[in-house]
Amino acid sequence: MTDDLLARHQAVLPSWMPIYYGDEAIEIVSGSGRHVTDANGRTYLDFFGGVLTTMIGYDIPEIRAAVEEQIRTGVAHTSTLYLIRQQVELAEKVARLSGIPDARVFFTNSGTEANEAAMLMATNVRKSNQILAIKNSYHGRTFATMAITGHRSWSSSSLSPLQVSWLPSGDRVRGRMAGLSDGDQIDVAIDELRETLATVTAGDVAALIAEPIQGVGGFVSAPDGMLGAYKKVLDETGILLIADEVQTGWGRTGEHFWGYQAHDVVPDLITFAKGIGNGFALGGVAGRADVMNAVPAISFSTFGGNPISSAAGNAVIDYVLNHDLQANALRVGTILLDGLREAAGSLPIVAEVRGRGLMLAVELVRPGTTEPDSAATLRVFDECRKNGLLVGKGGLYNNVLRMGPPLTLTEEEAREGLAALVAALRTVNAETP
Ligand code: PLP
Repeated sequence: MTDDLLARHQAVLPSWMPIYYGDEAIEIVSGSGRHVTDANGRTYLDFFGGVLTTMIGYDIPEIRAAVEEQIRTGVAHTSTLYLIRQQVELAEKVARLSGIPDARVFFTNSGTEANEAAMLMATNVRKSNQILAIKNSYHGRTFATMAITGHRSWSSSSLSPLQVSWLPSGDRVRGRMAGLSDGDQIDVAIDELRETLATVTAGDVAALIAEPIQGVGGFVSAPDGMLGAYKKVLDETGILLIADEVQTGWGRTGEHFWGYQAHDVVPDLITFAKGIGNGFALGGVAGRADVMNAVPAISFSTFGGNPISSAAGNAVIDYVLNHDLQANALRVGTILLDGLREAAGSLPIVAEVRGRGLMLAVELVRPGTTEPDSAATLRVFDECRKNGLLVGKGGLYNNVLRMGPPLTLTEEEAREGLAALVAALRTVNAETP
């Protein structure tokens, strides 16, 4: 049955939409908690949550109840031309949690649109289309967000409304940051920023956009404090800082509610999506009122923050706070991180185990080198599935396993997933010459 669906998928959907597991593609037909069941009746522990989006888990009564209550009113949609109570309440919560004084919030349907809106605001308030972005980043699939995406596999066009200058990523496995201490990395990056501003920009740059931990890029991150160090230089000429929190927000990183909080800085804008809707289409931008209000003409999203997605968003935030899922992400994430690091000691195919909270990655290389091993990565990925565990892949060279389980993951599930992952790594390590 799944095979049929794969053929039908391939017959009507475009070829550039990747699908996991090739001929063995999975159709997920039901879910509960952290588990999903496919069309063949096989159940998996889900460590990827539809790309870090099923943040609370599947079939969560509180979220279902909130959405059902909204549906029962008969009003699925009104447009933002009318007052939407759920949206105002959600904006109040996001503004309060953002850490940005007197914040305004604009809702969208996706992370791409959130970043696109942030670009609109930043370029208007600064009267400049120059943007600084980070290599190995991913910010979305529209022309502006592709332009600030520093990842060849995800750049389908060079057409750009923006002038983009690039700063180094925090990759420590290879490249110029390899082997450097945190302090030295920050010094190198600041030198690079100053040199970039002085040489390849026209001086009036609008903003720097950065993911506190790069998602698609394989959970690469700069040292703590990096964004704060950048901001000191940016402040000299009023350049804005935008944190793309699409993957890192809402407590996922465990130690902090937002990824930016590891960096001793408050951004001017933050963008969010994915987990806030737990599967309902919801994203947005929160930021300084003067920047948010700088758009000089009407800008409108028909669906952004509609009654149903906002109902879901409110229930998700309440759930995260009421159950202190940030603390759970730290506690359960530490079990995974420690377990993976311990196992990696005897696995020469593993170059690095990294991440924080429930955002964890394993980078694979040819043993004894830093040569990326995408084939071994695919093998481990497939072995995980055989062992009943869904994980993600990523990284510039497609050689990174990515884990972003629901923040409700239990200790028992963490240990179960860890065992499946370590077994898969051991199997592939043993096969590797
Ligand atoms: N920003 C980051 C950091 C992302 O990881 C993604 C998606 O993976 C996006 C933006 C784009 O979000 P969406 O796919 O909802 O448009």
